[in-house]
Amino acid sequence: MRCKACQHILWNQPVPSDGSARACPECGTAYTLAAFGFKPGTVKFCCRHCATAYYGTSPEGHLEPSAFNCAVCANPITMEECVVTPHDAMADVAAMLREPLPWFEQGPVLSRWWRTVCVGLKKASSIHTRLTEQPNIGRAVAFLSLHAWISGVVSAVLGVVMSFGAVNMLFGGGLNAGLNNMLAVQVASYIAYPLYMLFAAVVAAWAVSLASVEGLSFKRAFEIIIYSSGVLLYTLIPFCGGLIGLILWAIAASQAIAAAAPKDRATSPVILLLVGGFAALVLEGLIGFGISMLTQF
Ligand SMILES: [Zn+2]
Ligand SMILES: [Zn+2]
Repeated sequence: MRCKACQHILWNQPVPSDGSARACPECGTAYTLAAFGFKPGTVKFCCRHCATAYYGTSPEGHLEPSAFNCAVCANPITMEECVVTPHDAMADVAAMLREPLPWFEQGPVLSRWWRTVCVGLKKASSIHTRLTEQPNIGRAVAFLSLHAWISGVVSAVLGVVMSFGAVNMLFGGGLNAGLNNMLAVQVASYIAYPLYMLFAAVVAAWAVSLASVEGLSFKRAFEIIIYSSGVLLYTLIPFCGGLIGLILWAIAASQAIAAAAPKDRATSPVILLLVGGFAALVLEGLIGFGISMLTQF
């Protein structure tokens, strides 16, 4: 259970004794227990007077009824007054009902794409809590492909325009074999653009899986890295946007992976991820450079 504004952990917080609303101790945002969903039976609601534990059994894991007299100390208590803590064996994330990423919903694909991009831009550290229990690689690849094609459209158009410009300068205008070749390369590299992004995600996820952190398999890391790619929208900025997007993606993915790792193991996969991400960047640069050299001659 984390603050919806700042992700601060809210377990074990006592209710204010002056009767005021519960608030995040980190950022002050007010919250109620009713606004969170838990897996039924996995969360303890402890009496504020005698700490007797009650388990939430409603579909949202809430207490039923929400107000009653404590069976041990006989004081009247309500759910909102309880100190709430995950069942001993349950981890923080495992105890929460998952609120799936918008990409997993039904509905218009552009709307699902845009809302998932926004999660990546604003709350990359929450992505690991919003995935399905079983990783779904195909769904993640579909998201990244659409995302890369939309983000890459400006540089593709610019490439075509510049091809025309270059041919005009060299040959004085008119369609000819040189222009056709250049346009073919532009179109082919645009269609293949998601492959570069997938390549970066595979390298970074492989780097994370090397750290063999519990709960961070290759597939899970691959999903988290892909859904943290909202910043690839910066690729829409002409010329330098692609590189900025990739660097910001490496940073967002590091944050998302760090949030998914157990706290004592958070640093090693992040360093590995950054190394992997930058290795992918360099390789992508080399591939792009190679293609541009090939098209020159
Ligand atoms: Zn907060
Ligand atoms: Zn009690």
